[in-house]
Amino acid sequence: MSLRVLVTDEIDPEGVQLLAAQPELRVDEVPTLPKQDLLARIGEYDAIVGRSATRISDELLRTAKKLKVVGRAGVGVDNIALDTATALGIAVINAPAGNTVAVAELFFGVMIGLLRRLPHATQSMREGKWDRSQLLGSELKGRTLGIVGVGRIGSEIATRAQAFCMEVVGYDPYIADDRFRALRVRRAPTLDALLEEADIVTVHTPLNDETRGLIGRRELSLLRQGGIVANLARGGIVDDQALLAALESGQLSGAALDVYQGEPLAADHPIRQAPNVVLTPHIGASTAEAQRNVAVDVCRAVRDALLHGELSRSINVASVSLGDGRWREVQPAMLVAQRAAMVTRAILADQGLRAVRRLSVRCGSALVDAGDLLLSAAAVGVLEGVVETDRLNLINARTLAEGRGLELSVAETTIGHPYSIEVALSGGMQELAVAGSASPDSTPRLTRIGSFHVDVTPRQTLIVLTNNDVPGVIGRVGTLLGDAGVNIAEYHQARLAQGGEALAAVSVDGTVGADIRRQLLELHDVITATVVRFEGLGARD
Ligand code: NAD
Repeated sequence: MSLRVLVTDEIDPEGVQLLAAQPELRVDEVPTLPKQDLLARIGEYDAIVGRSATRISDELLRTAKKLKVVGRAGVGVDNIALDTATALGIAVINAPAGNTVAVAELFFGVMIGLLRRLPHATQSMREGKWDRSQLLGSELKGRTLGIVGVGRIGSEIATRAQAFCMEVVGYDPYIADDRFRALRVRRAPTLDALLEEADIVTVHTPLNDETRGLIGRRELSLLRQGGIVANLARGGIVDDQALLAALESGQLSGAALDVYQGEPLAADHPIRQAPNVVLTPHIGASTAEAQRNVAVDVCRAVRDALLHGELSRSINVASVSLGDGRWREVQPAMLVAQRAAMVTRAILADQGLRAVRRLSVRCGSALVDAGDLLLSAAAVGVLEGVVETDRLNLINARTLAEGRGLELSVAETTIGHPYSIEVALSGGMQELAVAGSASPDSTPRLTRIGSFHVDVTPRQTLIVLTNNDVPGVIGRVGTLLGDAGVNIAEYHQARLAQGGEALAAVSVDGTVGADIRRQLLELHDVITATVVRFEGLGARD
């Protein structure tokens, strides 16, 4: 069965080719479609890949019954109804890194343009003049560049600024000292400290509640007389009105803008006439190389999501970003978390507890970075077969669980194996924990059910029995399953004390129906019998 991908908004052909080369994918390439046309077609597709011109609205996502992945060739996802996608379990993938160099190079282009008055020089030449005396410029060398937001673009600018022999100071409260040292960027303790010493200030943060208006009237007044400000990030990080006032008063000697509070910028916006500005119409990412990079990048990630369930690049998956390699390493742990949650839920349900209130996951030191993802995998396990959705997955499991009133938590455990995972469910007075381990190079195992230590691979179907610890039970269970044609893969018997209650974890091939479970319960000395059939996410059998 082939999966269908709709590609729109003139994605670079190299990206489209990457998708089309997969025999399992059927790719339709169309120009940007009017809203109604897209609504009429979207129901047929498993994925859509586009740029900002196509709005992926709430209505569109709800109409797209088969949609699994939305790919955005670029960074911004303002055109995508992200919350709806998350609630529906649709992965949203963007390409944040492909245009980093394009923006970094533009910064130096506009800065030199500003300092050497290149737009003015060109204009005067067009007018037939030879105005050398009016065109005395200045240099980057020796100037202090203040970078606010030392992420991908900020870092690339820092490296290139050093080649221009600039002094580089950075402000980014979310970056560790090591990173500043590696980049040879001096760390400013506060934004104010950076503003007080920089000759040129450039912002490279995302736009959010914390950064909207980050550089306003007060901040601009901290700059040296004749300072320069650049915003090639997002309109609104530098307040347009405050910037205009600072340019007109001469507090600033120049500014470079690629982004604006309202885009496209109004034809009569006063900033267009401000003295000594270099203005570009949001072209930071507009290089052939960047368009190709983002198209290839997003198409590769969409392909991997569709064909291999690889969601490490999805921006709405459990708020974690694990690299490709790391995702593969923690996949067995996700499987254990999900299956441990299924076992826990099934045992509690057989004990009469169906309305679970709390889900807590504890993971070993080697899995701490994947904690959120393991919590999502466990939430999938808790909800699988319980909620009515054929789209339950890592993306929406936590939202769905919380929507049903479950309290979720994840923490590190220092006890046990670095790759251990414990899933605990509770409600009322009852609580049960099932633990396992999953190092990258070994088979995932369940290692504890309640207080009983077991060692069993959670494949296909698991039967968990409790019985009186007396001779003959294992034989009777084996005979019953054998007579019913059920093949036992592993049988692990555990007990706490001789003659007390014992627990058996029996991994079997195929399915075990309700009638076999009933017969197991009728066996002498068997107390409880829980059957868990593993299906869905990560099932490898
Ligand atoms: P990034 O996520 O790699 O880096 C952003 C950095 O900002 C991070 O290091 C983060 O820690 C830092 N940050 C967040 N809040 C901060 C705060 N309050 N103060 C200081 N630092 C803070 O992002 P990136 O890829 O480097 O992109 C940076 C910006 O450039 C984004 O706004 C992006 O949308 C924009 N962008 C614009 C264009 C364009 O066409 N002009 C193209 C690409 C990216």
